[in-house]
Amino acid sequence: MIISVIGSGYVGLVSGACFADFGHEVICVDKAAEKIEGLKRGQIPIFEPGLDELVKRNCDEGRLTFTTDLPSAVQKADVVFIAVGTPSRRGDGHADLSFVYDVSREIAASLDGFTVVVTKSTVPVGTGDEVERIIRETNPSAEFDVVSNPEFLREGAAIDDFKRPDRIVVGVTGERAREVMTEVYRPLYLNQSPILFTSRRSSELIKYAANAFLAMKITFINEIADLSEAVGADVQDVARGIGLDNRIGSKFLHAGPGYGGSCFPKDTLALVKTAQDNSSPVRLIETTCSINDQRKRSMSRKVQEAVGGNVRGKKIAILGLTFKPNTDDMRDSPALSIVQALQDKGAAIHAYDPEGMESAAELMNNVTFGTDAYEIAQDADALVIVTEWNAFRALDFTRLKSLMKTPVLVDLRNIYGRDELERHGFSYFCVGRPAQE
Ligand code: NAD
Repeated sequence: MIISVIGSGYVGLVSGACFADFGHEVICVDKAAEKIEGLKRGQIPIFEPGLDELVKRNCDEGRLTFTTDLPSAVQKADVVFIAVGTPSRRGDGHADLSFVYDVSREIAASLDGFTVVVTKSTVPVGTGDEVERIIRETNPSAEFDVVSNPEFLREGAAIDDFKRPDRIVVGVTGERAREVMTEVYRPLYLNQSPILFTSRRSSELIKYAANAFLAMKITFINEIADLSEAVGADVQDVARGIGLDNRIGSKFLHAGPGYGGSCFPKDTLALVKTAQDNSSPVRLIETTCSINDQRKRSMSRKVQEAVGGNVRGKKIAILGLTFKPNTDDMRDSPALSIVQALQDKGAAIHAYDPEGMESAAELMNNVTFGTDAYEIAQDADALVIVTEWNAFRALDFTRLKSLMKTPVLVDLRNIYGRDELERHGFSYFCVGRPAQE
């Protein structure tokens, strides 16, 4: 089976490399010529654990190639995956589908023989219908089917998620496309990953409903964290106590600074817009979005309290900038709002992140980037853990105390215990745990 993947970003590149690893012949396409030139030389444009070896192995074995030439990649393909971005549209929060529709027109012009066109990008309900209409209008004689196959991988664990998914969701309109998609995913099917075949519209909605549910779960525990602080309970015990109930489950119950990243913020917003357009508002998700927006910025107040009420002129050292560990993705990271709010209040920000500083430098102003936790802690008034990278899980607090102006740790991911930090002479602030245990 020959598969072309249009868009070689976080999703396209991981999907392409994994499909090649299943034994398919895969052509990854991108319009960014430097990205493709780099990939041909073996340079991976993103940080994703294991991706460099996976790409190298499949290139060496001749199953994975890269090109900017979309027409020839589409002509050869049995299946074409669309994996371009669907960011929030400026101004109104709807998903911006211009990349998907542009690519659909380009694909249409090059289709040769029966081809299955699959939207892997996260797209609102009805987008598959529009992709089908565009292709038919551009190339009335084309033989094709449009399928929805949303992607559920998580950055940082993307390869494992792709190869061992909880489920594969495929929205199809015809039997022919269903057979092709079964063939594409046969290796996973043999691995017992369930494939859910459904209608295209249901498949499109499943992706948004799944992300909205997870975002809501995070927001729920964040509100319970605030309540825990107010009443002297410990949110980690509460989360464990409710998570052990199988109906609830323990995942996504970690209190923190609010969700971020390239998916949850934009996808929850897009779902709200779709629901409003269809006169069927999803109020729980509207509320989730607004609570989360306020939460990110409000985390700066925790830092303010930790340094005695005023951050003006203080040096604040930020550990972790990406929206979660093991990625270099800075899109909608809580760090962006927290740092901005602290700067608005007059703080001097020094920051370190193992992989995200290059992207962060494009999005943040007046931040001094350091080479590790200890360099930025020098003379700092407070150290703030924003992202729970492994590198920050075993910090040397004796050394940090000797470097810092005042030994204050604001742990927005609850990775340390109060006792340990107080033993080292630190004032310790966290999320949803009482001041005195
Ligand atoms: P990305 O921005 O990393 O990659 C998109 C790529 O598409 C870019 O390299 C861009 O140059 C390329 N592109 C755009 N227009 C093109 C064109 N006309 N021809 C060829 N290439 C073109 O985006 P991503 O994070 O991989 O997300 C892609 C889609 O997958 C989005 O809809 C997103 O919501 C969804 N998704 C993302 C994740 C994730 O964790 N990142 C997870 C699940 C689903």
